Amino acid sequence: MGMLLDGMVAIVTGAGSGIGRGIALKLAEEGAAVVVNGVNLPNEEETVRMIEAEGGRAIAVVADVRLKAEVEAMVARAVETFGKVDILVNNAGIRRPATILTMSEKDWDDVVDVHLKGAFLCTQAVARLMRKNRYGRVINISSEGALCGEFGMCNYIAAKAGLFGFTMTVALEFASWARKDGADLTCNLLMPGFNETRMMADVPPERREELLRLIPLGRPSDPREDIGNAVAFLSSRKASYITGVKFSVGGGINMCLAS
Ligand code: NAD
Repeated sequence: MGMLLDGMVAIVTGAGSGIGRGIALKLAEEGAAVVVNGVNLPNEEETVRMIEAEGGRAIAVVADVRLKAEVEAMVARAVETFGKVDILVNNAGIRRPATILTMSEKDWDDVVDVHLKGAFLCTQAVARLMRKNRYGRVINISSEGALCGEFGMCNYIAAKAGLFGFTMTVALEFASWARKDGADLTCNLLMPGFNETRMMADVPPERREELLRLIPLGRPSDPREDIGNAVAFLSSRKASYITGVKFSVGGGINMCLAS
């Protein structure tokens, strides 16, 4: 029996750790060749080794998603190595908490640029290729927090909510190409809830307990099995009719985060 993503090529940004690594491992397990992006080569290389140890194909490519030249070089490297790009997962992210009165302009710019400008630059760099190949999946990683705000995180939440508008607009533009050329192109937003990754290491224990209490299914997500399987499905041909949606993968936290 064929795997879900046999013969496909994926770029996963921020895949040297956490959720991005889990997604990269799952996409490779489902048959995709994976470009493992990030800004810390030893981490990205470790993800590649993990994929290769399971018999998958991957390369590590260092590129800062905020920089157009580095993003374009990454996409060129993907095409040179694997011949095309079918799937882009805009996952790279950073957290710089501060309240509205104390947040520096740099903390605002850095966070908004990694999440939002990074998604724009990476999507722009693959969109033409995807249209030409008549297949493309762009999956933007947002957060359930984007729907209800989070204390001390106005930069992060603004960027994650901004990804919603970005996703719907790209989905509409992809759909217009799909109607014209019969291509299979979609763009969706994935909403994780709480995952115990490096990014969350500085979350105070009381907040961690509170988040866990809010998850109806009672546990944090597993990046590979919970988030990775959702991304693999949305990346596959089986999800051709799903576009412009917010796809919650947070153990039900979407039903109660605001309570
Ligand atoms: P993480 O810190 O483990 O992963 C983020 C990755 O992005 C790192 O590998 C980092 O090196 C990379 N990165 C940072 N800046 C970059 C840049 N400029 N260019 C390329 N790569 C860059 O954290 P994570 O929790 O795995 O986060 C992954 C994504 O999931 C983020 O977008 C985050 O906002 C989102 N998310 C996380 C949670 C959670 O609970 N952990 C919840 C909702 C959404």
